[in-house]
Amino acid sequence: MKDYSCATQCTWCDGCGDYGIWTALKRALVELNISPHGVLLCYDVGCHGNMSDKLLGYRFHGLHGRVLPFAAGAKLANMHLPVLAFGGDGASFSEGIGHLVHAVRSNYPIVFVLHNNGNYGLTTGQASALTPQGQPMTASPNGIPEQTLPSMDFIFSLEPTFVARGFSGNIAEMSEILKAAIKHRGFAFVDMLQACPTYNHFATHEYLLERCYTIENHDTSDFQKARALAVDTSKKIATGILYQNENVPNFYERLVPRQGKKTTLVEEVEVRDVSTLMKNFV
Ligand code: SF4
Ligand code: MG
Repeated sequence: MKDYSCATQCTWCDGCGDYGIWTALKRALVELNISPHGVLLCYDVGCHGNMSDKLLGYRFHGLHGRVLPFAAGAKLANMHLPVLAFGGDGASFSEGIGHLVHAVRSNYPIVFVLHNNGNYGLTTGQASALTPQGQPMTASPNGIPEQTLPSMDFIFSLEPTFVARGFSGNIAEMSEILKAAIKHRGFAFVDMLQACPTYNHFATHEYLLERCYTIENHDTSDFQKARALAVDTSKKIATGILYQNENVPNFYERLVPRQGKKTTLVEEVEVRDVSTLMKNFV
């Protein structure tokens, strides 16, 4: 774990679920024997994005809602490197929702961790598309008029190949989920229910602690059962690996020009003299 430590102090609020996810991530990487120079961690903008300088490893902190295209591109350039992308519920289901849709349908061979704290925490607690309708928030004291986006049902409608759900208060389970997600063949969608004690006063740490339970004896190949478990959060919330299908080729495996290649794209980069070509444009 020390290999991933850096001197920068965490600035998250006391009790923030980011601490748990941050710890689980390091633990998962260490348990998989992945060193900091052997992984790429890509962060969207948000409170979670401030994790990018709170640990070592190759890290990228990009534009709001745009973490997935960058992570997918980096992975396609170097298939040897595990790539994880992190995004909040605000950016991922509003500004970046198009990227999320196409990442799932493309089955990019990357992990996506949704820091799901039910609001835009970094900008002081505005409602996101996943905030319950009617819930008073900073910029909407009477609640939002829009319906809450049914995020899990939406993800399942895209025919994902890996869906899991964790809770920021259960570090051991999050570590196991992340290890399985990293080993998954295609796009791994991981919904991390994250406590935000400063702005989320509806799904608090205590609320989640009371409702979340680890699923046991569950057939992760049963799509319909997994979807039903994922969607039904009214009384209890199932956590763990809900669905996994390793039989679907990932995006890279479907790229015909890459089939049979022993090298990665980054290894094929070479200097070319384009001066003759450029003369056509002057
Ligand atoms: Fe964590 Fe919420 Fe504070 Fe952001 S505002 S650091 S998500 S507790
Ligand atoms: Mg959020």
